[in-house]
Amino acid sequence: MSRHCVVQKYGGSSVASAELISRVAKRIAATRRERDRVVVVVSAMGDSTDELLALAQKVNPAAPSREMDQLLATGETTTAPLMAMALERLGVRAISLTGLQAGIRTSSTHRSARIVDIVPQRIIDELEAGRVVVVAGFQGATEDLDITTLGRGGSDTTAVALAVELEAERCEIYTDVAGVYTADPRVEPRARPIPEIAYAEMLEFAAVGAKVMHPRAVEIGETYEMPIVVRSTFGDGPGTLICKHPAMEDRQKIRGIAHDSGVAKVILTRVPDRPGIAATVFGAIGAAGINVDIIVQNVSHDGLTDLSFTIAEEDLARARPVLDEVARKVGATEIVADTAIATVSVVGTAFLGTPGMFARIFRALSARQINVEQITTSQIHVTVVIARDRVAEAVQALHAEFELEQD
Ligand code: ASP
Ligand code: MG
Repeated sequence: MSRHCVVQKYGGSSVASAELISRVAKRIAATRRERDRVVVVVSAMGDSTDELLALAQKVNPAAPSREMDQLLATGETTTAPLMAMALERLGVRAISLTGLQAGIRTSSTHRSARIVDIVPQRIIDELEAGRVVVVAGFQGATEDLDITTLGRGGSDTTAVALAVELEAERCEIYTDVAGVYTADPRVEPRARPIPEIAYAEMLEFAAVGAKVMHPRAVEIGETYEMPIVVRSTFGDGPGTLICKHPAMEDRQKIRGIAHDSGVAKVILTRVPDRPGIAATVFGAIGAAGINVDIIVQNVSHDGLTDLSFTIAEEDLARARPVLDEVARKVGATEIVADTAIATVSVVGTAFLGTPGMFARIFRALSARQINVEQITTSQIHVTVVIARDRVAEAVQALHAEFELEQD
């Protein structure tokens, strides 16, 4: 395809009603007047994916994942034709395609399938025929034509993958916020959209709690260097450009503060300090499909040590039986789970070779008597574990410390 091609993705809140779908159609029509080739990816309307999940839960709490995918895909399958109809009503020729029709081939891991290939011929043919192509996001099909879904938030992945396949000029993600913010504006009213951010920084942001874009979509963007713009559906701000090299005069910046209140800390107390213990513990948790985040092992006393780590709070119930088993195996004295915690992260390439950055973080927090329980760092982020009820204060303190309210 050509550089004149653009892929636009509209999230669930942007298409939550017939009226909103009609409004989005106007925006697409305006894009179509400027571009020859417009591909639109849509999410399910509003909270309809959650509603489908709730419905399935009532019928069968342990529903087969193949059937779940067959069901969940209907959310996006509903939006796509509605959007095509809305476009036709405006005199814009359009056609909707399911993931299968759009040639999105995936692995057979239901509920979190990976795109293995895109066979875009149908899309290309429709674009050549002058139509706007509206693709149902979040879904694909296996070799056997079983319907799959790409994991929650997967429409972003559909959009970026299609943009790459079609060699689009860029992928635009339309949402209910004006871009990727320097902090969650509900927590820090002075937060503002970040004009440009590198893929790596965006991935770090997503990993530490910023929810605006699906990390897998950013990964695909990074691999193929596809520029991604995140912007508001109904506003006209420039939004945030996610790209390889942000063109700011000083690249080494702190981009923003992320936080995550949905975490739990688990402590295995008095574990024998010998080789293989951590492997046993994290092997079992990993095998249960539970993601472990910050791991801290204390200095051992008398050959015994405390092993603590964070997991998503929603995984805690599922982790319990696994932890009981592991604790028995490794001879831990006790398992303590603490959900009164949260993480706050400072993200940006400024940590690369700038002395004194860490000290600024700890000074800003200690000036407000906020206790840091655990710390983890990489070259582009620092995450601290603090009490959950101090999150807003911590975010505001760090936002001010790094002067993020200014351009
Ligand atoms: N509708 C799906 C979800 O809610 C996919 C998406 O919106 O990206 O997770
Ligand atoms: Mg979404």
